[in-house]
Amino acid sequence: MAESDAGSNLILIIDDSVDTIRLLNGMLKDQGKILFATNGEAGIQLAQRQQPALILLDVEMTGMNGYEVCAALKTDPATKDCAVIIVTANSGMEHEIAALEAGAVDFISKPFNPPVVRARVQTHLRLQQHSAMMRQLANRDGLTALYNRRYFDEMLAQEFERHRRQQLPLALAIIDVDHFKAYNDHYGHPQGDTCLQGVANAIDTATRRPGELVARYGGEEFTVILPHTDAAGAEKYGRWLCQHIQELQIPHQSSATAPTVTISVGLVSLVPSAQDSTQQLIAAADQALYQAKTDGRNRAIVNNWP
Ligand code: GH3
Ligand code: MG
Ligand code: MG
Ligand code: MG
Repeated sequence: MAESDAGSNLILIIDDSVDTIRLLNGMLKDQGKILFATNGEAGIQLAQRQQPALILLDVEMTGMNGYEVCAALKTDPATKDCAVIIVTANSGMEHEIAALEAGAVDFISKPFNPPVVRARVQTHLRLQQHSAMMRQLANRDGLTALYNRRYFDEMLAQEFERHRRQQLPLALAIIDVDHFKAYNDHYGHPQGDTCLQGVANAIDTATRRPGELVARYGGEEFTVILPHTDAAGAEKYGRWLCQHIQELQIPHQSSATAPTVTISVGLVSLVPSAQDSTQQLIAAADQALYQAKTDGRNRAIVNNWP
């Protein structure tokens, strides 16, 4: 669920010939970390787990052939960003076209010309690093470096589906900084920005379980996806977060709630059924946030919907 780490220069070789794997490994081992699989099915599984930057894929294999493997990799969200280079002894335009149509970025023919292989791999590793960086920037909020709303929406939809399939409780928190307009009015907008960065960083460092995701929802609002979390767990998290932010002791002289910056948190936990939607989940957390505000702020409220 996290962004794939294409910056790692991980190279996966999928080939049913151990000799070919050995040969390629010898040529490429100083360009990245090499993994290998000797059939398509095992290669796909390894790619899903390790998300290599680059895959060198043989065409003629027993079981799935290279084009089928490539097409499968390209339709799976977990592996679609891995660059695939098709490796084959079949030369000719129609084979190159088939490789590109299956979603490969390039084509290497056997017998190998080592300097050409090395140069192509180097080029695609560099391109992959660049696009991984661009993908990462596209998912991030400029001020706080947290995930942005767009990425949050995408991940919430994915997690919602996963929890619906597995029938597990999914919790969501919406966090709003208390009296933040007054903070800006009193300390100025630039210091308001610094304050938001501090709060964002504190929420992020306080949220460290695997799969948990913190995003900037907009303005002075943040949101957290909490996988496998029931209502009791959500409440504990919310309370702890309020305390954590209060302990930052960021002065807020014009707050009617406390002498320091505080947050209010609305939470909800649900085992999603076919009738439920992410919009309902967000609305329920929002409702709890509203309740936390009207109950006096600096607190966490769990909506007991449904
Ligand atoms: P409440 O306790 O009810 O949440 O009151 P509030 O003042 O925090 O809520 P309100 O929605 O009235 O004000 C939110 C403020 O957040 C107003 C807006 O200028 C400020 N804000 C939103 N985004 C940013 C930002 O990126 N930087 C700064 N400095 N301020 C921001
Ligand atoms: Mg083969
Ligand atoms: Mg707000
Ligand atoms: Mg606010």
